[in-house]
Amino acid sequence: LPEYAFIGRSNVGKSSLINMLAGQNKLAKTSGRPGKTQLINHFKINNNWFLVDLPGYGYAKVSKSIKKTFQSFIKNYFLQREQLICSFVLIDSRHEPQKIDMEFMEFLGENEIPFCIVFTKSDKLKLSELNRNIQNYIKKMTSTIWEEMPQYFITSATSSDGKEELLNFIDGINQGIEENS
Ligand code: GDP
Repeated sequence: LPEYAFIGRSNVGKSSLINMLAGQNKLAKTSGRPGKTQLINHFKINNNWFLVDLPGYGYAKVSKSIKKTFQSFIKNYFLQREQLICSFVLIDSRHEPQKIDMEFMEFLGENEIPFCIVFTKSDKLKLSELNRNIQNYIKKMTSTIWEEMPQYFITSATSSDGKEELLNFIDGINQGIEENS
């Protein structure tokens, strides 16, 4: 089955987003404590694709050697996955562009791994602030190594905003795959 990976800094709202997409509140554990998702998890959605939950990167509170281990674990996943169709890099809508996210997306780009950006927690901002932050992000991306902004989604796990768009996007790709096989 095709796989879609979800990844981001710890506390970015990944578990909440996964629960929203899977439509089950207890599927992936949410917590206010960063770094709780530590191993790779697969969730089968609609019986036709796997949502892959990868460990968060960029914890503040772990040692350098643990960070390194996680980084190579994550990178190995990306370099070895044959079923991986697209990955979703989660970005907290409230935050300025962060170096660690930029570097991670560069890694994906260098290895020709398709990715989209998911701006999370959009309900935490006023619409004007949200728009400003996203425009700022687009500016940052396109002024570095990216010729254009990757496909992106704006989500809120609180209001389910962006849920249909994301699921439709994935379904669209899956249909294309089925028709070609
Ligand atoms: P993870 O560490 O990336 O899996 O992040 P979690 O899903 O556990 O979320 C971290 C914190 O942010 C928790 O306190 C969540 O309740 C909160 N959170 C996550 N998504 C949203 C969202 O869309 N809106 C709001 N208001 N809070 C969110």
